[in-house]
Amino acid sequence: MKPEIKLYDKTFVPSIPYASLCAAIDAVADKINTDFCGCSKPPVLLCILNGSIMFTAELMKRLNFLCELACLKVASYEGTHSTGKVHQVTGFTGNIKGKDVIIIEDIIDSGRTIESLVDIVKNEGANSIRICTMLFKPSAYKKDIRIDYAAMNIPDDFIVGFGLDYNDLGRNYKDIYVLKEESK
Ligand code: 5GP
Ligand code: MG
Repeated sequence: MKPEIKLYDKTFVPSIPYASLCAAIDAVADKINTDFCGCSKPPVLLCILNGSIMFTAELMKRLNFLCELACLKVASYEGTHSTGKVHQVTGFTGNIKGKDVIIIEDIIDSGRTIESLVDIVKNEGANSIRICTMLFKPSAYKKDIRIDYAAMNIPDDFIVGFGLDYNDLGRNYKDIYVLKEESK
């Protein structure tokens, strides 16, 4: 890992190494495999762009049942804070009507995004919905929706890397970095 990275005006320091992310993804994939092994129809993995692109790729190669993939882009964050308003930026890249959907998120913070996503996916006619997130901030979460799968719980800090950005930069780092104290 780099000792620090600079994105625009902010400095980030190492937080979660790639190896730890992989171990957590192994464990969450095992749970999903157990739950979906022998399922009668292939579920759809719904990758929420752009943040969960790297997580979805790592996760799906560990899944050993038949599944489909669709993507949807939503946005709510500007800079290091959520705007509170979630908007759908694209349509679904695949058909989810009547399908069992596993929403794949990069990170769940206040829960506003996942709450809106569940509504959007229900309105699209999904048969069932499960939620899988790479990272979960339990102390920031304000909703009652059950998070079926969370690879890792983290504190309520702003992080980048492994798909997560600061104003569109930083997604390509394979390790996760956290905002340095004096950069806040
Ligand atoms: P929520 O709606 O749960 O408050 O926030 C969820 C969305 O906000 C995530 O999908 C992600 O795009 C963004 N987000 C939340 N926390 C972080 C963070 O620590 N770093 C980055 N880069 N994005 C975050
Ligand atoms: Mg996101």
